[in-house]
Amino acid sequence: MSDRTIDADWLRGEALQGILSALSEGGEEARVVGGAVRNHLLGQEIGDIDIATTCLPEETVRRAEAAGYRTVPSGIEHGTVIIVADHRGYETTTLRQDVETDGRRAKVQFGRDWEADARRRDFTVNALYCEADGRIVDPVGGLADIETRTIRFIGDPEHRIREDYLRILRFFRFFAWYGDGRPDAKGLLACARLKDGLAGLSAERVWAEMRRLLEAPDPGRALLWMRQTGVLSAVLPESEKWGIDAIAPLVAAEKAFRWPPRAMLRLAAMIPRTEEHARAVAGRWKLSNAERDRLIDWAQAPEVTAETSEAALAKLLYRSKSHAVADRLRLALASARAKAESNPEWLETVAALVRLVRFAEEWKRPKFPLTGADMIAAGHRSGPAVGETLRALEESWIDSGFTLTREALLERIPDPAKSG
Ligand code: ATP
Ligand code: MG
Repeated sequence: MSDRTIDADWLRGEALQGILSALSEGGEEARVVGGAVRNHLLGQEIGDIDIATTCLPEETVRRAEAAGYRTVPSGIEHGTVIIVADHRGYETTTLRQDVETDGRRAKVQFGRDWEADARRRDFTVNALYCEADGRIVDPVGGLADIETRTIRFIGDPEHRIREDYLRILRFFRFFAWYGDGRPDAKGLLACARLKDGLAGLSAERVWAEMRRLLEAPDPGRALLWMRQTGVLSAVLPESEKWGIDAIAPLVAAEKAFRWPPRAMLRLAAMIPRTEEHARAVAGRWKLSNAERDRLIDWAQAPEVTAETSEAALAKLLYRSKSHAVADRLRLALASARAKAESNPEWLETVAALVRLVRFAEEWKRPKFPLTGADMIAAGHRSGPAVGETLRALEESWIDSGFTLTREALLERIPDPAKSG
């Protein structure tokens, strides 16, 4: 037990205290572990609350339900049960020690030994436990690494990576979020040596980890070290020749303009802007349909430059995917800002792009004022010709900068007698 304690509202929460107490009766124990303890000690917002307990999974379910909580057996064979209380899910895992690993999945054995449970976790800062009363238990020296913001493998890094190659990506993910200075040298070396093992991981696990890395407030330094060690090329060969030079300017622009950090835009910034590359990444990482479309839309978005007029931009926004056009403008603006730092000639470009980004963000898709019903009312018979005529009228409306009124457009509907 360390002297440090946690004094926080989330820990005093009725649901959490209720669960910890139900799982601690009769000689059993339960503690909060993982991200919540780590983030709290780092002074950062906490996400999910994970719990570790000596109770066997069935016993966890029994006690939680007896205390009036709902449970979801999300990975019960690995000892994990989600306890739902107060609209929150508490991932509750029986203490375990790994007995056999194949580099991807671990066979587990349940145990009662908190130190053994700590040793099978990945990094020291992730193996801190917190008792219901706030006292912190630190079996592997996580507190010292919290102080220096060091992401350090528990035990021998190479050995730990061979057990689960995803830990390479987790090393950089946690460094991106919580690390400071240079990454731990031994960890870095082990990642560089064993990066080929990443090829055996499932696409879903790689993308889930990469997405969270790319969502960090500033993933720039982590990505640099990933490139340095060859890890980035191993998972994202598209970034190899292209590089990650666009990341720092993008992050700087996000801060300056308060754009929310978006993993997809950062990913886009790291790959060549072609549909082929977008499809390759989407396929390899099994992106969701929405994510895939987003990446492909961006790759297909038409060219926009600082010279593009607002009128021309409005037409581009109407004719293509407006969010993709806006993303292209944002990346162009980020890059122009970086250039302007060393060359003031770029300042004019920056100013023009700022205006265009704002225009794109405020733009609302105008509604074409005519419909097929207007054509029928004018005496046309429904059929493909109606659609064609409507599209031609829509084109003239776009060309007018969306200024042609409904009345003007109605007058332009061709006479059915003449058009046959
Ligand atoms: P966050 O949820 O905020 O991203 P976390 O540390 O809670 O961070 P999870 O992925 O929820 O991360 O995992 C919970 C805990 O389980 C970790 O803190 C770590 O102790 C352990 N863990 C998760 N994945 C692994 C892994 N691949 N190898 C070893 N330990 C792991
Ligand atoms: Mg967690």
